[in-house]
Amino acid sequence: MKPLYKISYEVLYKAYKVENKSIIECAKLFGCSESPIQRLLKKYHISYNKKSEMMIGKNNPMFGKFLDKHHNWKGGKRVYRRMKLSEVPLLCSNCGKQNCNLEVHHIDFNRSNNKLKNLQVLCVSCHRKLHYQERKLIQ
Ligand SMILES: [Zn+2]
Ligand SMILES: [Zn+2]
Repeated sequence: MKPLYKISYEVLYKAYKVENKSIIECAKLFGCSESPIQRLLKKYHISYNKKSEMMIGKNNPMFGKFLDKHHNWKGGKRVYRRMKLSEVPLLCSNCGKQNCNLEVHHIDFNRSNNKLKNLQVLCVSCHRKLHYQERKLIQ
């Protein structure tokens, strides 16, 4: 375990209760992460709002992104396995590269449309380029 941050009860109480700072703000103030602040609040028996603790994940800008990425990855794997079993040639259908990281692209950009007709094998770089273009079109 890491050595506990030298934050006294008085200092923490003043910041969290008197100045009404959030756990995240306290963490920034003391130059540490949120979890030692939470641990100290518990240790010093300073009551803290469990709800605001839950908000940390949602307030984190990376939270939603990570979930979305994870979801893509799982779907991709499943589809990829199905394509491997089918007669689809395993090479990039754009540049023809083989034996590289291949990904499955949904031609209509609808990830839940997993019909073989809608799937296209692309290497990572061609796939990235394609989605980059798609994003530019939307903006
Ligand atoms: Zn794609
Ligand atoms: Zn390619």
